[in-house]
Parts: sequence; C-alpha cells; structure tokens
Amino acid sequence: MLTDLKNIDIKGLSGIYDPESRDSFISFYLNTKSLDNKFVEKRKKGCKYVLKGNRELYENFEKTMQKIEEYLDKNRVEKQQKGLVIFASDIHNFFRAYKLGLPLKNLLIVDTSPYIRPIARLIDEYETFGLVLLDSHRAKIYIVSSHKVKYKKKKAKDIMNRHKKGGMSQARFQRLRKGAINHFLKDISDGIEKLFSEENITKIVIAGPGNAKTMLKNILPNNIKFKIVDIINADFDESENIIVSKSEEIILKDEKEISEKNVSRLKDEILKDGLAVYGLKETRDAVRNGQIELLLISKDYKIRGWICEKCQSVDTGAKKKCPYCGSKTSQVDVIEELIEFAERSDTKIEFVENNPVLNELGGVGGILRFK
Ligand SMILES: [Zn+2]
Repeated sequence: MLTDLKNIDIKGLSGIYDPESRDSFISFYLNTKSLDNKFVEKRKKGCKYVLKGNRELYENFEKTMQKIEEYLDKNRVEKQQKGLVIFASDIHNFFRAYKLGLPLKNLLIVDTSPYIRPIARLIDEYETFGLVLLDSHRAKIYIVSSHKVKYKKKKAKDIMNRHKKGGMSQARFQRLRKGAINHFLKDISDGIEKLFSEENITKIVIAGPGNAKTMLKNILPNNIKFKIVDIINADFDESENIIVSKSEEIILKDEKEISEKNVSRLKDEILKDGLAVYGLKETRDAVRNGQIELLLISKDYKIRGWICEKCQSVDTGAKKKCPYCGSKTSQVDVIEELIEFAERSDTKIEFVENNPVLNELGGVGGILRFK
C-alpha cells in the first residue's frame, strides 16, 4: 500500500534523535521509478569509509543497512509507486518505511536524527485538493492526495435532452430543463460542501465543458467558492489521469504563487519593522520560542553547522564540543534542524524557490504570531 503524505507522522519523526549526538540514524530516499543500482553501493562505501574509526557506529551502520536491504528484497515496487523512504537505526531499534506515489531524489544520509526535509517539502508542495468535473447532468468528484485519487464519486441525473419532444411549447420545455439542471447543480453543490469541509480541502479545481461549471460556481456557498483555484475547460469523458495531472499542475502553480506572496508579506513586515524575523539566528530563536506562524525557507538552501542533541543547541560553524553543556556535537545542516524544530511545534513551513530576496535575507525567515 502506498502511503499518503498526510499519514506520515512528521511531527513524531521530528522529535526522534540520538541524545548522545551519535550519527546513528540512516535516512534513505530512493527513486523507485528509475532505479540507480550503483547509488546504494556508492553511498555505502563512502559512509563506511568515514565511520571506520568508530566501531559502534560502523557496526550500527552495517546492521541498519542490512535491514534496509532485507526490506528492499522482500518488498516489490508497487505499480503506482515512485519513491521509497526509510528511516532506520539498529541501535535504537527503529525502522519506518513509506512507499510513495511521488518521485524522489536518491539520498542516503547518516545523521543524529531522521532527515525529514524532503518529506516536509513534498507536504508543502503536494497539497490535497478537490476536483469537480461536470457537465449539465453528470459530475465526478475527486479528492487528490499525494499524486493519487483518494476519493471518487460519480453523480448523474436524467435530465431531458436538449431538444424538445412532443407537444410542449419551446418556452415551457426550456424552463423545465433549466429547472432540472439547477436542481442537479444544487445537489452537487451540497455534496461538495459537505465532503470538502469534512476532508479539510482548501483548494478546488472545477472542470468541464460548456457553462455548467460557471453555473455551479455561482451557486456554491462563499466558504467553498473562495477555495476555487481555477475553472478549466475539459471534456467530461477525459481520462482520469489527464484531468488529474492537469489539475495538479494548476495546484502546483498556485502553491508557487502563494510562496511568492508570502515572501512579499515577509518583506512588508520587515520594512515596517513588524511581525517578521530573518536570518538564521533570529529565525532559529523564534522557531524555538514558538513565535512563528509561517517559516519561509529557500528550497535548496543549506548551512553547515553543528547540533548538540543533549541540550538541543544548534549553530553555524564548527564546534566539536557544545559550548553550553560540554557534550559532543555532530555536524549538521542547520536548515534541517530548523525544519525539525518547526515540525515539533506544528509550525507551517513554506519552501520558496529561487527567491533572490529571501536568499539575501539569509535563506530563512519567518512571519511571526507575536513579538
Ligand atoms: Zn549542549
């Protein structure tokens, strides 16, 4: 079974770490769509070479990799699967695997905690959305989550044909037909409102031929109407794959626009000396104080630094021992640690692509709840 991103306990994962700052967790991301057979061997070799000096960690790495490889042998790649994610540590007796319907970049990372950044990014990008495909008497309602259709419902109503029959006057026929269509659309509207509210859908695409889609929009209640991202022309009998991927593109584009808007919001707040922080240290402190409403991160930004898992201190640069408690530290990407802190406190994260302003502000920033 493929895992829905929604069901990955990212908060739980973000709270798992080696209290002695040992690099004892392996995070394994595999693109199962185009398998690179050399990838695992190459990464294994590199990591083992580095860990050779530490017997405990070397053994942990070997045993953990063995478990991962056993899993790979036992579990076939599923039909719709595109990626596999495993977090494992033999020392901690920890093993979690997720089969995803989303493509992933190959990664094998040895760290003091599960490396969750790629998952956090996917969660930000692939929002669950609602799709309604309709014409004047038929409708298909979908919920699309993590690249796959999670829910599908078809509705149809016998509505008199466009051309009148019998002795009815043209005007009367048209009136009756219009009434029947409105009745049908009202029924769809009620169904959508109930379903999309229950499922916490925040984005909706409406598709179909002709003007039924605009008529539907006009009768939708406002709380649903403002969730519509786009209304597009489509053939009612369009294949599911095509209409779903078209809608996904629309949702992805919308997500990018929202990212840009949030950077503008951040800029405005900075100019007014309002509710904003930027730069690594200020942002880190605000995340840890639970002050951040929205954490903005440049997509591929990484900052070399260290973490002391014992007292949870994080900073840039290199330190062998923690300046606060004297414990051993581990080298980390500080941005990843920031993401983990944010996930632990349910802070929403927005990954921003190639935004020069955010990059100049230090690659990270946050819009604050309070100051
Ligand atoms: Zn410390």
